Amino acid sequence: MAFFVTKDMVFDALKHGGVLELGSDTVMTPLARETADKLGVTVKTAGNRGRRPLVAANWKMNHGASATLLFLETFIPLSSGTAGIDMVVCPSHPFLILAGQMLKNTSIDLGSQDAAWEETGAYTGEVSVPMLVDCGCSYAIIGHSERRKYHPGEDERIPAKMELVLKAGITPILCVGEALADREHGRTYRILKRQLDIALASISEEKADPIVLAYEPIWAIGTGQVATVTQVADVHGFLRKTITLRYSRETASKCRILYGGSVNSKNAGSLAALEDVDGFLVGGASLAADSFMDILYQIMSAKAPSVDVLEDKQHQ
Ligand code: PEP
Repeated sequence: MAFFVTKDMVFDALKHGGVLELGSDTVMTPLARETADKLGVTVKTAGNRGRRPLVAANWKMNHGASATLLFLETFIPLSSGTAGIDMVVCPSHPFLILAGQMLKNTSIDLGSQDAAWEETGAYTGEVSVPMLVDCGCSYAIIGHSERRKYHPGEDERIPAKMELVLKAGITPILCVGEALADREHGRTYRILKRQLDIALASISEEKADPIVLAYEPIWAIGTGQVATVTQVADVHGFLRKTITLRYSRETASKCRILYGGSVNSKNAGSLAALEDVDGFLVGGASLAADSFMDILYQIMSAKAPSVDVLEDKQHQ
């Protein structure tokens, strides 16, 4: 049976150090969550049910060869003390091979910012999934809102992209998110459900296991306007429930859900403390090794009870 945290308990936590520790079977009422957000009370969860945190750097169309080298030369040694977190760097396509070579024998994975919806053929400018495999990618961002915005018809190509990356053993980071007008008109959940329904239409439960979701409200991307703790908690809870209804409670409990949108070292801690936040997809703040590292530290401290050092991945 779940134990409910009320608004009064949040006020109580404020009087006693401003930190609210939740047990694994504890649920916050929406009002309590909102109050904690308003009062700046830090909510710490007892863990995220064994899901390993993941942080991905989306460099977008930034960093050429020398900036890629400089970032990785700084970041690789800095990140070597990071335990229990999956780290992914997604450079522009021309620098995947360079980055991949530098990431060999490190615990950092290589990701692409997109993937083509066909495996081969006359698709000028596209980069196929087999090519991404050749470059050493183990993750691919799919359905980023900037791809959806600048490439008409993107929504319809997402199911094929999802199928191809999963078939190739690449983990998709599937982005979903609402525009400001959708949120203001109360359409957020409808939009997110639709995006998930389209992207997952042909993915059976057996194949769905590795899928990572990234909730990226469009109005928060690159704007400095991060979503509130309450908004993120509500949407991530909704996404997990949607995965439960589509597949099963077991698949949903394994699914990692990232938040993306103006994440930095100042806001990462309170968001990472949410049980349903399993990490971040980071744009601007991932361009410098030290600011990206600061976000990793925030996650490590927020998720400390669930970070299992012994399970730390070794890339031999
Ligand atoms: C993104 O583009 O995926 C993103 C989250 O960007 P930013 O962190 O700059 O808002």
